[in-house]
Amino acid sequence: MKETCFHCGLDVPESVKLSVEFEERARPTCCAGCQAVAQSIIDAGLGSYYKQRTADAAKAALPPDEVLAQLKLYDLPEVQADFVETGADNQKEAVLMLGGITCAACVWLIEQQLLRLPGVVRVDLNYSTHRVRVVWHDTQVALSDILLRIQSTGYTAAPYDAHKVEAQHQQERKQFIVRLAVAGLCMMQTMMFAIPTYLYGEGEIEPLYLGILHWGAFIMVLPVVFYCALPFYRGAWRDLKNRRAGMDTPIAIAIVMTFAAGIYSLATNAGQGMYFESISMLLFFLLGGRFMEQIARRKAGDAAERLVKLVPAFCHKLAAYPESEAAEEAAVVKLQSGDVILVKPGEVIPVDGVVLAGESEVNEAMLTGESLPVAKRAEDKVTAGTLNTVGPLIVRTEQAGGNTRLAHIVKLLDRALAQKPRVAELAEKYASRFVLGELLLAVPVFIGWMVYADAHTALWITVALLVITCPCALSLATPTALAAATGMLAGRGVLISGKQSLETLAQIDDVVFDKTGTLTKGELSVSRTVALGSLGEADALAVARALEAQSEHPIARAILRHTGAEQVHEADNIKVMQRVNRIGHGVSAQVEWRGETQIWALGRAEFVAGISGSLPDMPEASHTGSMVFLGNQRGFQTAFLLEDEIKDGTPEMVAALKAQGLRLHVLSGDRSAAVAHLADTLSLDAYRAEALPEDKLTYVEALQAEGRKVLMVGDGINDAPVLARADVSAAVAGGADVARDGADVVLLNDDMRVLPQTVAQARKARRVIAQNLRWASAYNLIAVPLAVFGFVTPWIAALGMSLSSLVVLGNALRLLKK
Ligand code: ADP
Ligand code: MG
Repeated sequence: MKETCFHCGLDVPESVKLSVEFEERARPTCCAGCQAVAQSIIDAGLGSYYKQRTADAAKAALPPDEVLAQLKLYDLPEVQADFVETGADNQKEAVLMLGGITCAACVWLIEQQLLRLPGVVRVDLNYSTHRVRVVWHDTQVALSDILLRIQSTGYTAAPYDAHKVEAQHQQERKQFIVRLAVAGLCMMQTMMFAIPTYLYGEGEIEPLYLGILHWGAFIMVLPVVFYCALPFYRGAWRDLKNRRAGMDTPIAIAIVMTFAAGIYSLATNAGQGMYFESISMLLFFLLGGRFMEQIARRKAGDAAERLVKLVPAFCHKLAAYPESEAAEEAAVVKLQSGDVILVKPGEVIPVDGVVLAGESEVNEAMLTGESLPVAKRAEDKVTAGTLNTVGPLIVRTEQAGGNTRLAHIVKLLDRALAQKPRVAELAEKYASRFVLGELLLAVPVFIGWMVYADAHTALWITVALLVITCPCALSLATPTALAAATGMLAGRGVLISGKQSLETLAQIDDVVFDKTGTLTKGELSVSRTVALGSLGEADALAVARALEAQSEHPIARAILRHTGAEQVHEADNIKVMQRVNRIGHGVSAQVEWRGETQIWALGRAEFVAGISGSLPDMPEASHTGSMVFLGNQRGFQTAFLLEDEIKDGTPEMVAALKAQGLRLHVLSGDRSAAVAHLADTLSLDAYRAEALPEDKLTYVEALQAEGRKVLMVGDGINDAPVLARADVSAAVAGGADVARDGADVVLLNDDMRVLPQTVAQARKARRVIAQNLRWASAYNLIAVPLAVFGFVTPWIAALGMSLSSLVVLGNALRLLKK
């Protein structure tokens, strides 16, 4: 027998061996999340909740008191600790998973209902993943109120847990398959009973046999009406309670009407068939359509889920490391920073951490799309969600759970999918009005046909109208396309996070690049030093090292790398005070060294000139790399010549972007010779050198003033203001923290060739959305008159409706193709 979860009542997957101790007995739980929640409930002395609750309370519709009691538990800080985050202004934020969403129109309803609660700040519902992100003020509204509001609207909600979502999906899918199979079987049976009545004319079948045929069809349609069609009634009832029209309403009305007419005809012996077999066919096609829709929707929208699922639920914890390497199984959600774990080859690393021992190769493809393995050994950093391939690694946890880089990526993806561009919002609103219009239209159509023909004709024409005009395709058109496009890009290490990012990306005219670290590798090296004053080379490097000690700038890193042991030693004797780091200029400080106090500066020529006086003659005019100067109050002392390499793939990227008709610019604070050389090598359209941060801003604004849409690509380290000013921004995250900057597009992969692919994908997504919307509107515009004038039967209507949704979905799925 299958075990069910002590806390939530879902089936416990076979591989899961988790339990909580309650009343001296181990109770199984389905996931680490439930285990943690149940444990905190029991620890808080609230275990009686589990006794009060009726057997399968979590599964069945809960009676109100119990619902309340259960929901109130979510207000406990211990329970919230696992899934609620506290943001700015003490706002709380949580992701909830929803059950019972059947069509895109539900999304609007839930959002409206929640936003009406005072204290709820933001609601982003993602139709593709059935997840909702809620932001609220804890002082004004409790999480239990939010959950209660969702439940009383007719849906279920629970804190999001990827493993549980999977279990829920499987249960839903199983139920769906059973419904579909029953509908299919019953359809065949009712058809069998119906066919003889088609073949023979009136009076040709003996009344007794005719009775058997009619009653047989009636019995075979009962499971369809009372079981298969349940989701439609539920949806319609919910809509009715909320006083609005959703997509289930017309369908539920159609089923009930047809069934009632069938019974009437049976009772009065009117002998006009078609009712029962129509119902079963209708439901078979509708369920079939929805089933395929579900599959396609999940295929399109589960990029984030795929990533969440990367992290295993369990790991091998080395509790007594380094004294002993004995491993015990531990739930990943319970890991804390500092815990040491063993990751065997073939396993996914569950945390962000540092390798303590072992040597291996790690595949980061799931995260960055980069499939070349990366070598890892002691002291290297590893990231959650990457695959350990060759040998075992012992890893010290630095970040686990919601703080890992992977979790930030998932959050970005979620946010992207939850945010609706204007087109999608419009389509949703339009779809819900359309349903209302359709219901209103059905009344005169029914009356008209009743007067003109008869009740029988009027009935099936109205039913066909109700079914065929359901605007499912319309509301699916945008979200599925966006989900598919973002999902495909995520697989390549491109995260789209802004609300309109994909749409704007499709319309850009100009791409502005930052130079260092974006077009070039950003790993500079000092190739030569040139003396400009009396200071020796070793001393110059020692002072430069002391000045740059705390700087993150690529030039600073190059200087730090270039200094040898001797200079490191000397730099320790140099006392640096009042260090000032001027972004885009360089560093200056008061330096006490060899019994003398002087102001020193290191950076671009004009900056150093502010302290050292007049500029010297430029040395090495032919040098095409960067150059920085060191000087003190006595004058310029040294010039450092630096080299950087163009990133692999940059020339291909440039060629591809040009082929897309884009104008390319490079902006840099570096000296003219270096920037000009780079622009020339890559044959970019325009460049601007020696640009201060504010010049970069002006440059982008000037382009926008010409009416051009600008994509700015940078490393997000010192160009955040420019990134924010551009129409769309892309940050090359490389190893950096993805969540730090607010870029619309984050490139996790260092290979810049994904950029033109991203632009191409954005353009394709825009085309697909336009096609989908056009197709869906055209379908509805044609279907309505056809149905009104009686050209479609109910089952053709069901087929048409389902097919129109599938066309839209199929079109959207094209975006998944690589
Ligand atoms: P980019 O536009 O290439 O990102 P920045 O705006 O960061 O360049 O810097 C512009 C110039 O300022 C650099 O080329 C360098 O000459 C000087 N500079 C900035 N920060 C530093 C530093 N920490 N050390 C030395 N030089 C610096
Ligand atoms: Mg920069």
